[in-house]
Amino acid sequence: MVARHDLTTDPGLQEQLLQARRGTAFFARKLSELSDAELDGDSLLPGWSRRHVVAHIGYNARAIARLVEWASTGVETPMYPSVSVRDEEINFGATLSPIALRNLFDHSAVHLSVEWRDLPEDAWHHTVRTIQGREVPASETVWMRTREVWVHAVDLDNGASFADIPASVLERLLHDITSAWATRGTDKGLLVKVTGTDLTFGDPDAAVVVAGPLAGVVEWATGRGTGGVAGAEPEGLGIAGPVPAAPKWV
Ligand code: ZN
Repeated sequence: MVARHDLTTDPGLQEQLLQARRGTAFFARKLSELSDAELDGDSLLPGWSRRHVVAHIGYNARAIARLVEWASTGVETPMYPSVSVRDEEINFGATLSPIALRNLFDHSAVHLSVEWRDLPEDAWHHTVRTIQGREVPASETVWMRTREVWVHAVDLDNGASFADIPASVLERLLHDITSAWATRGTDKGLLVKVTGTDLTFGDPDAAVVVAGPLAGVVEWATGRGTGGVAGAEPEGLGIAGPVPAAPKWV
């Protein structure tokens, strides 16, 4: 029998699945607003057209679905054979006809959603491995997809902004990014503050402070622009400083 609802009954996971599917619907909407000719235009990512972004999001759904299948069957199926195969696949996908590219996005998104829906409760705890070699429970695949669809919808560069992304997604993203910096030690001398909240990240003794609303800070932290943040001197000096480039995220 085919389930019509997600098999998981975990409310936290159900909420996360909702954010992933909302993000996918958001990406779908931005994609549908682009004409076929506009797909040839530049994305916000250096060297990538919008076609590359759409191909990447399509193949990413397939790769994440492979992890969900792995969790379901116990048969190891990696996301991609290698990073270079992943990159070649994206370059190939970018050459597809507009209709094929749109179908790739649609079909892969539906397939992933069905894989999640039909994953039994206990299998969500099974360990799978990401392309970066991280061992994670299958439940992590939901977040992996969530951040891809929301952020790359902005990268399509046809009107989506970080302000369109739900605050809970932005917050988790900022935690991910700043903890990657902390792990690498690339946040030395840098303090990041989200204005209007008690969210601060980085070096409390920093000489450089970057501050702004949540959407602006995440836009900056992902390397997508400095328009939403201001540089500030440490407490007391009261002069605005320049905004440094964010440390590398991925
Ligand atoms: Zn990506």
